[in-house]
Amino acid sequence: NFRARSAYKLQELDNKYNLITPNSVIVDCGASPGSWCQYISRKIFPSKNVDVDVNVDNSLIIAVDLLPIDPITGVKIIQGDFTELVTQQKIFDLLNKRHVDVILNDMAPNFTGNHFVDHVRSMELCECSLTFAELVLKPGGTFLCKFLMGESESEFRNKLKSKFKKIRYEKPHSSRNKSTEGYFVCLEFNKNVTDGMT
Ligand code: SAM
Repeated sequence: NFRARSAYKLQELDNKYNLITPNSVIVDCGASPGSWCQYISRKIFPSKNVDVDVNVDNSLIIAVDLLPIDPITGVKIIQGDFTELVTQQKIFDLLNKRHVDVILNDMAPNFTGNHFVDHVRSMELCECSLTFAELVLKPGGTFLCKFLMGESESEFRNKLKSKFKKIRYEKPHSSRNKSTEGYFVCLEFNKNVTDGMT
């Protein structure tokens, strides 16, 4: 009973890595129709009677997508293009200087059917979410990033390695076999590396 089957991918990764915990600040990029946020909301706010806008603990869950998202308990929704600064500014405003525990990127480009083009566009979305992650993640924070497999994935992985202590490649069972998508689970953001570069 989720809006999309994608929820089972997050559930599988969460069961393995315990990514979603109470009192967390979470940003979900590419969140429509909202099944990941439904999963998060049900895990963090198990009581179903919570008003959508009431914070019941210190959690802050922000969902961003080009497409609209129907309301989800405890989730703040931003409709806009994540790659545009005006959208990221809206996220900063909601964060109100809080740092982020978990950044999720399940964004997918509109598929053209040309695998190379789709791969390149997917990696651009990955790069964009990583740049954002470096700005807002807490030291020790988590970044979960979907990508379409292809020639530049190892370059991206190397970049991740310089910023996180642990990088795990995952292909959840619930991600269909024929699909060329994979996920990088990036654990323990190393803030010092980034600070050294600024
Ligand atoms: N995790 C979602 C869920 O469980 O409901 C499913 C996400 S769906 C696979 C990918 C989403 O990425 C689409 O809704 C699409 O609109 C969004 N997307 C693609 N490019 C985007 C961008 N530049 N900014 C915001 N969202 C984007």
